[in-house]
Amino acid sequence: MNKKQKRWRNRIIIALALFAAAFAVEESGLLATLFGTPGDVYASFVLFFVPYLIAGYKTLLEAARNIRRGDPFDEAFLMSVASLGAFAMVFFPDTDPHMAEGAAVMLFYQVGELFQSYAVGQSRKSIAAMMDIAPEYANVEKDGELVEVDPAEVAVGETIVVKPGERVPIDGVVTDGVSQLDTAALTGESVPRHVEPGADVISGCVNMTGVLRVRTTKPYGESTVARILELVENASEKKARTENFITRFARVYTPAVTLSALALAVIPPLAGMGAWSDWILRGLTFLVVSCPCALVISVPLSFFGGIGGASRLGILVKGSNYLELLAHVDTVVFDKTGTLTSGTFNVVAIHPEAGVDPDYVLSMAAHAESFSDHPIAVSVRAAYSGEIDRERIAEAREESGHGVSARVNEHLVLVGNDKLMAEHGAAWHDCDLTGTILHVTVDDEYVGHIVIADVVKEDAEKAIRDLHAAGVRRCVMLTGDRQDVAEAVAARLGIDEVRAQLLPQDKVDAVERLLAGEKNGARLAFVGDGINDAPVLMRADVGIAMGAMGSDAAIEAADVVLMDDRPSKIAQAMRVARKTMRIVWQNIVFAIGVKVLILVLAAFGVANMWLAVFGDVGVAMIAILNAMRCMRAE
Ligand code: ADP
Ligand code: MG
Repeated sequence: MNKKQKRWRNRIIIALALFAAAFAVEESGLLATLFGTPGDVYASFVLFFVPYLIAGYKTLLEAARNIRRGDPFDEAFLMSVASLGAFAMVFFPDTDPHMAEGAAVMLFYQVGELFQSYAVGQSRKSIAAMMDIAPEYANVEKDGELVEVDPAEVAVGETIVVKPGERVPIDGVVTDGVSQLDTAALTGESVPRHVEPGADVISGCVNMTGVLRVRTTKPYGESTVARILELVENASEKKARTENFITRFARVYTPAVTLSALALAVIPPLAGMGAWSDWILRGLTFLVVSCPCALVISVPLSFFGGIGGASRLGILVKGSNYLELLAHVDTVVFDKTGTLTSGTFNVVAIHPEAGVDPDYVLSMAAHAESFSDHPIAVSVRAAYSGEIDRERIAEAREESGHGVSARVNEHLVLVGNDKLMAEHGAAWHDCDLTGTILHVTVDDEYVGHIVIADVVKEDAEKAIRDLHAAGVRRCVMLTGDRQDVAEAVAARLGIDEVRAQLLPQDKVDAVERLLAGEKNGARLAFVGDGINDAPVLMRADVGIAMGAMGSDAAIEAADVVLMDDRPSKIAQAMRVARKTMRIVWQNIVFAIGVKVLILVLAAFGVANMWLAVFGDVGVAMIAILNAMRCMRAE
């Protein structure tokens, strides 16, 4: 509890104690002996009004302020009118006094409010704690001394030192040291990751065992940590339809029940159906019950919890609307490279043309690819053991979905698929191996091709299986790769449909067509690593990006980001989304159901104010506790 909540709690405790004392004094009949009748009624009015004011003065002030602003209809208003009304029954001397109820309404309302504020604070805190990944400093080595500086001031390429127990402040590459990294805060993965010189480290992980020297590869603002924090901060702005519905509902509902309560209090006695005091009391009870606290608070709290629960699993959801959409996904479309496959390719074979040295083919390809970030390019460079001198390369161009072209030592080199060859009118011939074929030409002369094969991610098969088990109707794979490679991968993973040899714009068309075929209310998710599929990520109902390896553009364009690039997280994200929606609807039905029941009872004069106040606060508490279940990730 924070300071404000503690003061609030103390106020409630004092008010409760005074209330209990007042109750005891009233029951003892002491007041009647001291003040006689009707003096005892006024004395007990004072006795109950004191704890009432102590507990509720802020709510009363708020209601007054809202009335002055011309926007009176909220919970504070309902509670103030109902409780003041109960006290005002003192003006009907011939009825039983209702001061105790008036004070009780306000007291229990406060208990409920405090509980709410605590629950909201708790779930915020738990997201914040999970997200407690913001590094406070970075250790930079200056003249052999370690200096703590603001991570934002560290330049790219500088070396920082991360000691055991410290958080990696900035993304970079290990240059020295061996250690284990705890990545749980980012990926929900509890198995530590071993790192040694040459390994990439992402900021936000905790260094566990050894001292690491890290050469930074990004400024702090573009490091993983900063990006995640930004995503989480913006998440609460994107509201789900259900959430907006509840807000709109409350706006219409509160004035409506206020008017109904007024009608209930005024019309029957005017029609001569009974005493004024009786009907006014029913109207007041009606007001207490009608307070929509449970709904207004528990729905956003559930979504908040769902987002928090997902982020515990290393799944960042950028807003509650996406959680809602995710729950209705029945088609999942995957990009192949980098999404279902690891994005590192092994060179299977090099087939040079007659009289050409295979090393020459690989060397030319590696040089031409030297400026590309495509997984193919990275793998070709990794397979080439020689030095790459970037000075010797000019006019490097990337043709997405095709390949690359560049001048290497003044020779024009093309590396890519048959589409690239066709486009440049180069001669080439096919290969009978199954794999991705990189044709290489030098100065329009075909020198041979490199056959590479990508490695299916460890959990890709499980990812598809889990999705089918979760009720996803079809899993589709789109790829720019060759048909035979695509079919081999699809068969292995249990993918339902494949479209191969697609250019990036063809992928958008394919997704458009799939979207058009979606049945009412069913949603389509696209999962990609974002290397030239950001447009598709935007177009899908839910765009899911690989966070660790994905490009910045993809993380920007996506609605959901998987921190550790594991496709099996998609089914997990859907489970969290569905659980959240289930809890949201449970709360809506439960809260409205109980309300309607007590409202009807109140209208018929069966429910008294005691039942009303316990109904209201009790329902709110149960709904809040239920909402907090969303946070627990399975
Ligand atoms: P995917 O749809 O599997 O993610 P891309 O659309 O990125 O694949 O690429 C499709 C195809 O284009 C690749 O299979 C490859 O044949 C060719 N290609 C793309 N980029 C490159 C590159 N940098 N070097 C060589 N070939 C490339
Ligand atoms: Mg790709």
